Amino acid sequence: MLCLGIETSCDETAVALCDDGRPLLEKLASQIKLHALFGGVVPELASREHLRRMGPLLDALFREAGLGLADVDAVAVARGPGLLGSLLIGLAVAKGLALAAGKPLIGVDHLHAHLLAATLGREVAYPALGLLVSGGHTQIVLLRSPLDLTVLGRTVDDAAGEAFDKAAKSLNLPYPGGVFVDRLGAGIEPDRALFPRPNLENTHLDFSFSGLKTAVATHVARHPGLRLAVMPAPDGPVDAAAWPLDLRRVCSSLNFAVADTLRVKMERALDGLDVPAVSILAAGGVAANSRIRAMLEALGARRGLPCFLPEPALCADNATMIAAAGCLLGRAGLTHDLALDAVPRGRKVPWDYQAGPPLG
Ligand code: ATP
Ligand code: MG
Ligand code: FE
Repeated sequence: MLCLGIETSCDETAVALCDDGRPLLEKLASQIKLHALFGGVVPELASREHLRRMGPLLDALFREAGLGLADVDAVAVARGPGLLGSLLIGLAVAKGLALAAGKPLIGVDHLHAHLLAATLGREVAYPALGLLVSGGHTQIVLLRSPLDLTVLGRTVDDAAGEAFDKAAKSLNLPYPGGVFVDRLGAGIEPDRALFPRPNLENTHLDFSFSGLKTAVATHVARHPGLRLAVMPAPDGPVDAAAWPLDLRRVCSSLNFAVADTLRVKMERALDGLDVPAVSILAAGGVAANSRIRAMLEALGARRGLPCFLPEPALCADNATMIAAAGCLLGRAGLTHDLALDAVPRGRKVPWDYQAGPPLG
């Protein structure tokens, strides 16, 4: 089954083809440089960029793949959560293509797709305990199967990605700062007592990262020399060794505080399951963080559980994960009609799909 995937939920315009869940090709245009000028995503600009870039990306995708719209068995599109105006562009394009090709439309939960990215090309055993750590969400999710998900815990305020990005901002690192904090902190011993590991003195599985963001901002305010005088280019080379050691230690300590907070709640979740998980997985942009990846791999090794992490390019927003989710849903006969609407917030998986015969 050949599925076209379309992703426009935030600041990445992306289209991809998957064949029976096997990634074929992706074309992605990042808007990071544009939004970095404003220190964060400007929704109106994001929608316009999606509209401007979608056509050429689709053209290039089909041309390079040597395939046409007629070869596609289904059109999958991220329907939310995300920025409403941005989602609407993807949905409008997907509906147009599905209508033109006479092929089924499949609305995909962006967060579900993030998690499935960890399973791409792997034989994952279930139940799996998943950690979704992205720019807008931090959740512990039980996957009884790839189509049966339950959220066990979530952040009550900021997402882990926001904590990275806002902490980076207080250091005058460019948006989105997570990747800078990761690279600058790599290879430096963290000060484990420097920042709090928030919301651990309880028994539940929810997170709270807003206090951590404030702790970094307060530390920087007390040590103004940490703040960079000139903001580096968002896509500039990061030669970590050339950066001030005290700044790198702050970054390392932040990586540690986030990773260790995630570890404690993942361990708690594993201990509390009625049916033990037989694997762990993680997804979302923050799952590209090297300390978090090392933490999860060590956790898996300690517990004797295989740990599945997407390659870094598949952690951040992409359309391959949407196309792959489309293959999975299509094979299960789950589709939508052309009345499909965008859902900017909240979710329910599986999501009001219409059950029919398997596609492809
Ligand atoms: P959501 O999926 O919740 O709607 P989003 O799509 O904007 O939000 P992603 O694209 O999955 O989120 O992830 C972006 C986030 O990942 C940003 O906050 C960014 O700073 C963070 N991030 C990316 N790489 C790293 C890294 N190596 N270390 C830490 N954070 C990172
Ligand atoms: Mg993004
Ligand atoms: Fe995302």
